Amino acid sequence: MSKASNTKIKALRCPTCRNIVLASNEDFPFCSDRCRRIDLGKWASGDYKVSTPVQDPDLLEELVRSHKHNSQNEE
Ligand SMILES: [Zn+2]
Repeated sequence: MSKASNTKIKALRCPTCRNIVLASNEDFPFCSDRCRRIDLGKWASGDYKVSTPVQDPDLLEELVRSHKHNSQNEE
């Protein structure tokens, strides 16, 4: 079991440029307004294929692994 399953996100990587972004950043989860706009543009043009929100990279990796085994085990 994860010891930090309910921890608030404090930092993650900007979906656009992969820089580390702190949760205190006003443009979180993006590092800047520019990256936010670029990302929104990708969504609008259907460039994205991933439907799950990006969370803490380490936590996300863990979730992806467990989901591959238990994807239909909810509810
Ligand atoms: Zn960025």
